Amino acid sequence: MDDIGFKYHIENLSLVSTIAPPFKRTSETYDLNTVKGRREYFKVKAGKLIDKISQFLENHTFIAYWLAPKNAGKSTYIGLLRELLGQHTFNYIAVGDIVREFQKEYKQKAQEYDSYFLKHYRGYLKLNEAVEALLHPDVSKLKPTELILTLVKKKIDTLPRKTLFIDGFPRTEDQVSYSLYFRELINYRNDPDVFVMIYLPLSVIDERIKYRRVCPKCGKSFSTVLLPSEHVKYDAAGDEFVFMCDNPACNKEVLIKKQGDDKGIEPLMPRIKKDLYLMQLAEKLYGVPKIKMYNAIEVKDADNLVQDYEITERYSFEYKNGKIIKRTSPWVVKDNGKNYYSLLAAPVLLQFLRQLSEIFEIT
Ligand SMILES: [Zn+2]
Repeated sequence: MDDIGFKYHIENLSLVSTIAPPFKRTSETYDLNTVKGRREYFKVKAGKLIDKISQFLENHTFIAYWLAPKNAGKSTYIGLLRELLGQHTFNYIAVGDIVREFQKEYKQKAQEYDSYFLKHYRGYLKLNEAVEALLHPDVSKLKPTELILTLVKKKIDTLPRKTLFIDGFPRTEDQVSYSLYFRELINYRNDPDVFVMIYLPLSVIDERIKYRRVCPKCGKSFSTVLLPSEHVKYDAAGDEFVFMCDNPACNKEVLIKKQGDDKGIEPLMPRIKKDLYLMQLAEKLYGVPKIKMYNAIEVKDADNLVQDYEITERYSFEYKNGKIIKRTSPWVVKDNGKNYYSLLAAPVLLQFLRQLSEIFEIT
């Protein structure tokens, strides 16, 4: 399993090419880091397609299992979809959150949980063993997968019926086969389902973590090279740039590094290897269509397939004659000896929209 995911393979370049043609090149450029810029960009690039998908979602529902290595930006894409299609068009659930909620509140709400479990739980473990195993996963060797599914079902039962995006399922190898009949389990029997997978060079994740800065007051996240705050000053004593929160309420609070961020992706590797392994298993499943989103594109292919403003920029700062000079250049990441540009989230999302419309024949 060791070599999995260290290479960013694009086995099928035609998928990557969906970024540009058939999406037309734009004559104007857009600031894809702003809501306004994105709105105009999506309208020009895929306005009709987005209208049709929105209409489709009014009358149809489907289930999407999101699979990606940790920190690949799933929540960013989900957020963009909300922005684009509206909050009301889909439900989003994260299985990790549901399990944590259960672990936190089971003691207080045991009766509520137990009565639901008695009705709906079916599995290989005795119910009380499964509950114990899920409450104490660090000491238990049992895998209470069916109980997790019951918890997910409980959550879904409380939501209005619409398209469902699931994050964090399947989470382990034994859960992959459950995804084949998950929709029956939650009474979405006739809903089509689809895997959504995000591919990216792991060095993208590594650098995102290494340069991350957080505001201790409001928790807003920045990056010194990818998303610097507007407020920056030069500290002559330490010969370094100091970044401050741009949230007016925070009064220029100095941004800090989170403990361990220096190490980048390394501490996450066991988890990320597991995620990539699950993606490989999902790739092999017949009968469930897959949507593949590629975060990056080889530098040599970029000219034909993307426009400059769709590429993530890297910022650098220089202190000269009492002034701070800010520069940008395309962010180049290396992976397996090749150079890649990392795309901004909006063009990556276009790949999702295009493939979704193909799978469900939204025309
Ligand atoms: Zn702040």
